[in-house]
Amino acid sequence: MQIAVLGTGMVGRAIAGRLEELGHEVTVGTRDPQATTARAEADQMGTPPYITWADAHPGVRLARFSDAAAAAEVVVNATNGSASLEVLELAGADNLAGKVLLDIANPLDFSSGMPPTLFVKDNDSLGELLQRAFPRTRVVKSLNTLNADLMVRPDLLPEGTTVFVSGDDADAKATVTTLLMEFGHRDVIDLGDITSARGTEMVLPLWLRLMVALGTPTFNFKIIR
Ligand code: NAP
Repeated sequence: MQIAVLGTGMVGRAIAGRLEELGHEVTVGTRDPQATTARAEADQMGTPPYITWADAHPGVRLARFSDAAAAAEVVVNATNGSASLEVLELAGADNLAGKVLLDIANPLDFSSGMPPTLFVKDNDSLGELLQRAFPRTRVVKSLNTLNADLMVRPDLLPEGTTVFVSGDDADAKATVTTLLMEFGHRDVIDLGDITSARGTEMVLPLWLRLMVALGTPTFNFKIIR
């Protein structure tokens, strides 16, 4: 499948690299490909520059958000939550129309320091915000409740864990579930329509505290029933 992964951070890289390994044709989307490849320093979180990763993944193309989205059958939103609306506008409503958008972004607000707060919650969610802004796109929220490496390699944990899907379109959720299965996930719970993204986004305050308490981001939830 032709897949656009919007986002050059650790999530975009993890998803793009794994999709390519699985045989998909992958283009990573960014604001300015030249500027992105010219960056030589790690960012403030210590993420190495994109070019280091790109050199190890010559089969993955890099393009402007709009070019990446135009060519894709499925689009992944792996951008900073506070910029996701703007990124999708740059990608272009027409380029996104009719397509499945796997939305991994979290609505984290770091403006008051750590831990971050949620800039949308309770009676709305980032997933819904994106779905409302792009009504012709089929938004599916998933994978936002686990670390980037585990998203694509759940077998890094010693036992199977759980991922969730939220979205209004059953076919779009089936497409995303197939990709999740390709990554190695076996327990995928369909939470219902896109309003159920409120729950998985509001898990983030707990997830962040667990990371501090456990001293690692390599953990996940397992729903026993
Ligand atoms: P990130 O640093 O949060 O986002 C990087 C991407 O956001 C880049 O592609 C960047 O564009 C774009 N961006 C940032 N500010 C922008 C602006 N003002 N206008 C347009 N684009 C902008 O990357 P990340 O750590 O990989 O996280 C991606 C998303 O996944 C986030 O929403 C995060 O909350 C969520 N998430 C992360 C993890 C994790 O393990 N890190 C786990 C679950 C969910 P350029 O390429 O042009 O620089």
